[in-house]
Amino acid sequence: MPDMPNRSRPTLSETTAVDTVTALPARVDLILRPRWMIPVVPAGVVLENRDLVIHESRIVALCPREQTAQRYLASSTEDLPEHVLIPGLVNAHCHAAMALMRGIADDQPLQSWLETAIWPLESRWASTEMVRDGTLLACAEMLRAGITTFNDMYFFPEAAAEVVEQCGIRASLGILAFDVPSAYGHDADDYLNKGLAVRDALRDHPRLSFMLAPHAPYTVSDATFERVAMLAAQTNLGIHIHVHETQTEVDQSLQQYGERPIERLERLGILGPQTLAVHSVALNDADIAVLARHNTQVAHCPTANLKLASGIARTTALQGAGINIGLGTDGAAGNNRLDLLSEARLAGLLAKGASGDASALPAHTLIYMATLGGARALGLSERIGSLEPGKQADLCAIRFDGAATQPVFDPASHILYAAGREHVSDVWVDGQSVVKKKQLAQISEEEVSLKAKLWQNRFRG
Ligand SMILES: [Zn+2]
Repeated sequence: MPDMPNRSRPTLSETTAVDTVTALPARVDLILRPRWMIPVVPAGVVLENRDLVIHESRIVALCPREQTAQRYLASSTEDLPEHVLIPGLVNAHCHAAMALMRGIADDQPLQSWLETAIWPLESRWASTEMVRDGTLLACAEMLRAGITTFNDMYFFPEAAAEVVEQCGIRASLGILAFDVPSAYGHDADDYLNKGLAVRDALRDHPRLSFMLAPHAPYTVSDATFERVAMLAAQTNLGIHIHVHETQTEVDQSLQQYGERPIERLERLGILGPQTLAVHSVALNDADIAVLARHNTQVAHCPTANLKLASGIARTTALQGAGINIGLGTDGAAGNNRLDLLSEARLAGLLAKGASGDASALPAHTLIYMATLGGARALGLSERIGSLEPGKQADLCAIRFDGAATQPVFDPASHILYAAGREHVSDVWVDGQSVVKKKQLAQISEEEVSLKAKLWQNRFRG
């Protein structure tokens, strides 16, 4: 839409009276005109005939369509006539750079997968170059799937940060703590010091945040956990950790420490409302009560849990205890796709099948888990996760076109049960286009794929 000629109009910050009939329309950057909107807050609502108004990277209003022209003058307007607009998806747990290892070792249980396939490969190849190329591959896949934020746990977070800057995505990067030496660090203090230095250098980046990331109870000592708990208290950073992924992990902890991992983490001061317990599969009722008592967050990764035969997380019991749940893909070396819509669908189907209750985790709850639930889990719910004025404009448009998505009776259930990531058409982060008509807007998918093929040859050699 062209600017109005010969007239100086107020910007949004210059006028607070945009809702009065007499005011001139406020200048804004972008207006999106979708067929439907699911704002997530308030819960369970599908809006029609509303425009999403965006200025300076934030959502300004969900304006009734008949009032938009009177109230706002946009530099750019986009019609989305067959689309449902939702908040950008939040991938609450992944190891992005492992996208380069997609399919390298399938159909194995967790311990042998890690010890015979993944760790030897990482000890030989992990480098800033590998993390840069792998994270770029992952971001290309995630953006095309409507994922606008990912929570990462991997070596060389400085290389992942470069990619975040380049491709326009948002990320929460892990400050690793790990008592196993690697090409990145020789001991836990070395890992922590390197990660904290990256966080200090990049703490003001508008699309980066950080969490302390002790890998798992079976790879982190008591002394390291104590340092992590102290750092969390000093810095107010959240904690991102794999917890109770398998029954084997629980059994080994009982043997080694005489405690279940969750009991040990509680004793060491690791559990709290800013702690994200990833997987949380092998839980008994007492474990769930401990997580609930500490208001601990959970990242549910259903595909990774099934593929590695770890089990099925008790999502309805967690929910019943009032525990917030986000969804994660885990790394593409184990999943093998970074597709949060399919995780949401699977989470719903598993909850229904496991509970015998078809109303378990209904569509709006699954959309919440894939957006605001994940944002809460990362401590970012004040900024992202819902379509509310003041929040960053991280958005995902899903286009219901073609036979597979017609007719449309309920756009919310349609996202889960009929559509998939192939129907994601446009994506924005901070109001900037990152996917336009199914094409990456800021990076070349061809270049990304070429780099992945080079790594395939290296790994083979
Ligand atoms: Zn993981």
